[in-house]
Amino acid sequence: MTEVLRVEHLSKHFGAIKAVDDVNFSLKQGELLAMIGPNGAGKSTCFNMMMGQLKPTSGAVFLRGENITRLAPRVIWRKGVGRTFQITATYQSMTVVENVQVALMSHNHRIFSFRPYAHKLFRDQALGFLETVGMQDQADRHAAVLAYGDLKRLELAIALCHEPDLLLMDEPTAGMAPKERLALMQLTASIVRDRGISVLFTEHDMDVVFGHAHRIMVLNRGRLIAEGTAAEIRNNTHVQEVYLGGGQLYKKSEEGSINA
Ligand code: ADP
Ligand code: MG
Repeated sequence: MTEVLRVEHLSKHFGAIKAVDDVNFSLKQGELLAMIGPNGAGKSTCFNMMMGQLKPTSGAVFLRGENITRLAPRVIWRKGVGRTFQITATYQSMTVVENVQVALMSHNHRIFSFRPYAHKLFRDQALGFLETVGMQDQADRHAAVLAYGDLKRLELAIALCHEPDLLLMDEPTAGMAPKERLALMQLTASIVRDRGISVLFTEHDMDVVFGHAHRIMVLNRGRLIAEGTAAEIRNNTHVQEVYLGGGQLYKKSEEGSINA
C-alpha cells in the first residue's frame, strides 16, 4: 500500500517540556490510524506540527514523500490534508447546505458572492456531501440550531469538500454522547473505505478506538511507547501501566479492555 504520511524524529520542546519527543510513524493510503495517550501526552502538538500550525524543534513530516515540515497551514491544506476542528468552525448564521456551498466555492477558488444566484452555486454537489454524512434532510436548517453531533457531521462534510486524501481529526467526538461517538467513527470508517482516504485521529473513548482503528499508536509524555492492532495494544503491559498504573483517566473494564 502507498505511504501517504511519514513522520521522522519529530520533536517539539516548550522550554524544558518535551511535548513531542522523537516521534516516528507512517500512515498508508486507506488506513484509519488512531493516536491515543493520556491528557498532555503531546497528541495535539503532534497534529499541529503536521498541519503547519507549529514549527517543530526538530524532525520532519513527509506527505507522499514530499517534505512539508515548514510549509504554511494553507499550503499543506491545498496539498490535500484536511482537518476537522476540535472547536466547531461553521457559520452559525447560514443554513447547513450554505455552509457546505461556501466550502465548495472556496475549494473551487470562487469568491463568496452575495449576488442573487449565489445560493444556487454548488447546491447539488453540497447536497451530495450532506448525503454522505447523513444530513441531507437537515440541509435548510440553520447551523445555529443543530445538535452537537450534527454539527460535527457537518464539519466532516465541509472537510470532505476539499477532497483531502489525508484527514487529521483531533478529538473529533469531544463533547459527544457515547452513541454519537460510535456513529461518527462508523461514518468516518465508511468514508475511509469508500473514498480510499487516510485518517489519523485522536480519541478518548477506547470503545471507539478499539472498534474502528486499523492500527493504534500510544503516546506518553511525548514519546511513542507502542504501536499495533487493537489486540496488541490491549495486551501491551507498558500501555496498561501508563493507563492504569498512575490511575489517570482510564480504568480497566471487566472484559479486559481499556475504557475512558
Ligand atoms: P494532548 O493533546 O495529548 O493532551 P498537548 O499536545 O496538548 O497534549 O500537550 C503536550 C504537552 O505540551 C503538555 O504538557 C502541554 O502543557 C504542553 N504544551 C502544549 N502547548 C504548549 C505551549 N504552546 N506552550 C507550552 N507548553 C505547551
Ligand atoms: Mg489534545
